[in-house]
Amino acid sequence: MLKEIFIGLSQNQVLNQAARKYGLRLGAQSVVAGTNLAEAILSMKELNAQGISCTVDNLGEFVCKEEEAQAAKDQILEVIQAIREHHLDAHISIKPTQLGLDIDYNLCLNNVREIVAKATQYDLFVNIDMEDSKHLQPTFDLLDDLSIEFDNVGTVIQAYLYQALEYLEKYQDYRIRIVKGAYKEPEDIAFQNKEDIDDNYIKLIEWHLLHGKFTSIATHDHRVIDHVKQFVKKHAIPNDKFEFQMLYGFRKEMQYKLAEEGYHFCTYVPFGSDWYGYFMRRLAERPQNLNLVAKQVFNRKTNTVLGVAAGAFIVGRLIKSNWKKRK
Ligand SMILES: Cc1cc2nc3c(=O)[nH]c(=O)nc-3n(C[C@H](O)[C@H](O)[C@H](O)COP(=O)(O)OP(=O)(O)OC[C@H]3O[C@@H](n4cnc5c(N)ncnc54)[C@H](O)[C@@H]3O)c2cc1C
Repeated sequence: MLKEIFIGLSQNQVLNQAARKYGLRLGAQSVVAGTNLAEAILSMKELNAQGISCTVDNLGEFVCKEEEAQAAKDQILEVIQAIREHHLDAHISIKPTQLGLDIDYNLCLNNVREIVAKATQYDLFVNIDMEDSKHLQPTFDLLDDLSIEFDNVGTVIQAYLYQALEYLEKYQDYRIRIVKGAYKEPEDIAFQNKEDIDDNYIKLIEWHLLHGKFTSIATHDHRVIDHVKQFVKKHAIPNDKFEFQMLYGFRKEMQYKLAEEGYHFCTYVPFGSDWYGYFMRRLAERPQNLNLVAKQVFNRKTNTVLGVAAGAFIVGRLIKSNWKKRK
């Protein structure tokens, strides 16, 4: 229920606009590395100093005009340039909808192609993040189209999808990030039960570690991480065949510890004024993440405005769902 509410909130354009105006609020400042590139660079330098590499995401949501998609592309090109100029140990993560996928496939493909071409010049990897199932096939199409020209591109497989293993087999020669999945998907295509998702997640990771090119295991789940540590030991899988990934600001101690233990570790570093949708998806994932909000929400007037608006939305959804149940 909470997941559904926060996914609903993440798709609310009015709240997204309000959040953009006020800058990082509601506790988002601890999980988003700033609203501009300079702040993100500082965060990446700090992580690099701890032996942690980064994948950087210039946040962007609700792109429905061609100019917005072009602007997002230009900003990502700047990020690539900055990675080079600051000698950062980092690569980039992009979202197809931010680059125009909802407007026109070819517009998006051209934008992504420009990004990947620039990244190639500096020998950087580009990860195409996986969004909701509506964008699944076009995202694979982008990967197919781009891999005709480039070999520095990969994507994400979500364990909640019934067909995940099939996708993994098809894309085993790519560098793949494996995740549990962040969106609310219907039961005809995705597991709904946490245990089923967790079981499938382990199955996919094991399969890709044994057969795939390079595996990014993106999770905050210590049980999965412990399992992977045992599995790679048992099968003598070298450290340069995989990495652990976590999101910026989550389980920091564990991030540092894994890097110290000698595992390749990569932190996903989101930044930008469009933080709201990303932050709501994090709240959807784990009710305990609401602690981040609780610490901040009544601190300032602006937080209160957003908090009240979000609260009103939640209450509205609860009333609506109770009403439906009664009917
Ligand atoms: C680097 C990265 C990139 C991602 N990219 C995508 C993407 O492209 N597409 C997509 O759909 N999803 C993506 N996700 C999100 C992912 O799909 C999951 O929704 C998200 O990671 C939550 O699942 P989890 O595996 O971390 O563990 P969960 O199932 O959320 O948690 C499992 C257990 O781990 C522990 N735990 C989890 N978080 C914490 C914490 N903060 N503090 C203490 N204990 C904790 C708890 O014991 C919890 O019960 C990405 C995630 C990461 C880390």
